[in-house]
Amino acid sequence: MATVLPFRTNSYVVEELIDWSRVPSDPIYRLVFPQSDMLPESDVIRLATLLRDGAAPAELRTAVHEVRMRLNPQPAGQLDLNLPYLDSQPMPGMQHKYPETLLYFPRQGQTCHAYCTYCFRWAQFVDEPELKMASGDVENLVAYLRAHPEVTSVLLTGGDPMIMSGSVLARYIEPLLALDQLESIRIGTKSLAYWPQRFLTDPDADETLRLFERVVKSGKNLAFMAHFSHPREMETDLVERAVAALLGTGAVIRTQAPLIRTINDHPDTWSNMWRHQVRLGMVPYYMFVERDTGPQDYFAVPLARAYEIFQRAYSGVSGLCRTVRGPSMSATPGKVCVDGVAEIAGQRVFVLHLIQARDPELVGRPFFARFDPQATWLTDLRPAFADRFPFDPAAPARRISA
Ligand SMILES: *Cc1c(COP(=O)(O)O)cnc(C)c1O
Repeated sequence: MATVLPFRTNSYVVEELIDWSRVPSDPIYRLVFPQSDMLPESDVIRLATLLRDGAAPAELRTAVHEVRMRLNPQPAGQLDLNLPYLDSQPMPGMQHKYPETLLYFPRQGQTCHAYCTYCFRWAQFVDEPELKMASGDVENLVAYLRAHPEVTSVLLTGGDPMIMSGSVLARYIEPLLALDQLESIRIGTKSLAYWPQRFLTDPDADETLRLFERVVKSGKNLAFMAHFSHPREMETDLVERAVAALLGTGAVIRTQAPLIRTINDHPDTWSNMWRHQVRLGMVPYYMFVERDTGPQDYFAVPLARAYEIFQRAYSGVSGLCRTVRGPSMSATPGKVCVDGVAEIAGQRVFVLHLIQARDPELVGRPFFARFDPQATWLTDLRPAFADRFPFDPAAPARRISA
């Protein structure tokens, strides 16, 4: 499995988070250790045979590459999105999909403290150079932002930017503080769950916290977008102390995770997670639908079931937890939220809306899809009461022949 999918763990995850008496069904174990049923059986047999027979490295590499390419390594044209919004000049390591927010992938942040088996950016962590996107050019980022004053939020992502040392992180963040247009700097990270020592006992923990303080003092919001997949990740003493240290800098911690079959596909798991987050001072933000990449057949939860889990979890928590939105699909046209299932004019339909859209005109407008209990992604859905979805191109006008 580890020849195809990235695999990485650490002592904290292994010793503090995984309950070894419950392996292999333990959710944190499944979150980090690839399982043999995560790939098609025929691929597993082929790779195992090659490995057992001591195949030449080149032959193994070819087979591994073929298996990876069948796993849709770049969902929703991720590499195409390196072309920033409205600009024709490609900028590696940037995605400018929504006018107000720019995604930035620092070159030194292209790994994580441990890898999630369900990661939609898994292709970043395997040895396939043409599938990577990253940038190390802070000057280009600043120049791009000056040319695009509509950007008010920069989101550093990866990998995990918190894998970078405090001083490297500062090289990316300090130059942004002088830009008045920026209201917020966000950091997408799993470090609170996988390595809370990053903010407590690592040699640069203090330096990092001081950097966050400087962001806040500069008058910008430092939004720490923390990825928590399971309530267990919030139970250690270390994580509680790390959250307190981060909040002490004036940063806001917002939380998000995808809904994953066999790991967190139960309403109680989510309501417990949101409640615990609020108790520690964090703000629930997104529940995502697992993307159409990697071992998606293994992890996918049908949209109808995803909505049910969200609704049941959401209905049992206080309004302070209901800052969370979802289930949301990050798809090519934008972030599509499943609002519910309704019966309209005798037809069972999904009610949907775009939380984010490449075309801001479409944000927040309800639209409908035919109900399909098996559908797991936007591409499985068909429009209801219309011949296309609002984000689909209009049918070409019929040519009138003489
Ligand atoms: C989710 C996302 C953002 C941020 O969207 P918010 O709704 O502001 O959190 C920005 N860019 C891309 C490509 C995204 O997928």
